[in-house]
Amino acid sequence: MDFFAPAGGKHYNTPMTGATNFEGLAVLLGAGPGAEGLLTREGETWLSRCDCVIYDRLANPALLDLAPEQAEKIDVGKSPDHHTVPQEQINRLLVEKVREGKIVVRLKGGDPLIFGRGGEEIEALHEAGLEFRVVPGITAAIAAGAYAGVSLTDRRCASSVAFVTGHEDPDKTESAVNYEALAGVDTVVFYMGVGRLDAICRSLILAGKSPDTPAVAVQSATLPRQRTIRATLGTLAEQAREQSLAPPAVVIVGQVARTAEQWNWFERLPLAGQCVLVTRSRKQASRLARGLALHGAEVIEAPTIEIQPPETYTAVDAAIREIAQFDWLVLTSPNGVEAFLTRLAALKLDARALAGVQIAALGDATADALRRGGLLPDRVPETFTTEALGWALLERDVKGKRILLARSDIAPPDLAQMLAAGGAHVEDVSVYRTTRPASLPAAAREALQAGRVDWITFTSSSTVENFLALAGEQACRHPGCKIAAIGPVTARTLRQAGVEPTVVADPHTIEALITAVTTEESRENP
Ligand code: SAH
Repeated sequence: MDFFAPAGGKHYNTPMTGATNFEGLAVLLGAGPGAEGLLTREGETWLSRCDCVIYDRLANPALLDLAPEQAEKIDVGKSPDHHTVPQEQINRLLVEKVREGKIVVRLKGGDPLIFGRGGEEIEALHEAGLEFRVVPGITAAIAAGAYAGVSLTDRRCASSVAFVTGHEDPDKTESAVNYEALAGVDTVVFYMGVGRLDAICRSLILAGKSPDTPAVAVQSATLPRQRTIRATLGTLAEQAREQSLAPPAVVIVGQVARTAEQWNWFERLPLAGQCVLVTRSRKQASRLARGLALHGAEVIEAPTIEIQPPETYTAVDAAIREIAQFDWLVLTSPNGVEAFLTRLAALKLDARALAGVQIAALGDATADALRRGGLLPDRVPETFTTEALGWALLERDVKGKRILLARSDIAPPDLAQMLAAGGAHVEDVSVYRTTRPASLPAAAREALQAGRVDWITFTSSSTVENFLALAGEQACRHPGCKIAAIGPVTARTLRQAGVEPTVVADPHTIEALITAVTTEESRENP
């Protein structure tokens, strides 16, 4: 048996297993069509361990976050004067960076070798005698078909498909695009054709394709702002003009485009076209952000909270050193669990130190964080409020018991007071600090200023308070802007600030918050 084989007997034949000390290497990497999740696993691996990323306009900028912080990031999609960097210059840059001995990811929208000039870059690398790899990506045509409800080669009406550049002027005498030949292809997909749509459609009709052939233009495929214009070959150019079609868009011509109305699942998701602001700390935001995005929302992160270590560990350390003397350890957030376990480890202790101590957790997420840390909570109240947690402990008779609350510096004193009133000896220590960032990210500020935010989600009272302090009292009162609160306490804080929540999650979980928002939207736009 291979002792080092990954669990489950899987064989990884990706280049990432084994030694990775490359001496200069270029990776032409397909970023996919836009949605972050449509990057390949291989692509993610290379990105996460490169020294330099040279990227284009069409690659999703969020993917850059997958690269190491210290990696050099070079934008060749736009220069200060808004002109793209000439291809020869990109080739030279690529060669130069690889020669420095770096792993250079050349991140390109879609697939690097489909209308991506990847061939020219490979040639430059090859001629310079440099090593290169190519990681394919999902090209725009495939993505647009999938997300706009078009099966490009549905065998009932198509047995061939062509990817064609629309960048060329079809009127020029020696067009490289053979429209006569294209007229005989069942499905034709044009890239870069927005500016020349008239001429493209006309040329296809002149070449013999029926003007009644279904045709669609899919703009910003896979992104929350995706939209599809459905027409026929004869009417598409006019429709596109009327509806202000803008790049990036692909045009799909063929009988297969008939289904684009019925099968367009993406633009019909309950949160399609909705811009949602997530105000949690960046680290915590992902589950909420991902859940909302799954329902079609454009999610903008606007962290209003930063998690920091406490000013001093004196009280925490003293409590941890005599943890065996406590009857209960109470944790009220995943951050608290993580901070507590990190400190435990820093003091060279592990779960065994908690052997005789009972653990109470507030909320499923906190309980899950404990389980991930190898600890099973003894008590998790069904209602996720501190008050319910207090009652759950009082039920167990806490008289004379020692209870350690390991929480944030801004946790309200109610729980400690409640337990003390029940006769417990309570020690309330801050294992982490919650601070307010200096400002909201530019994307959030811009969306708020433009009045294009449809929802703001709040997952705690401090997100409400900090958001109002950062964005101003008026930010929540923009007409058409709806407010979602995770529970009654957060809702009360909102009301105290004069903001009426549109929905309040019940139970008070992230999942229920997502459901509340989608249900409200489905109710409004059935
Ligand atoms: N290498 C890329 C194509 C680059 S050419 C790929 O494989 O997809 C740029 C053209 O790609 C755009 O003009 C547009 O036609 C198409 N395109 C790229 N991303 C797109 C998207 N998200 N939606 C629709 N078309 C897109």
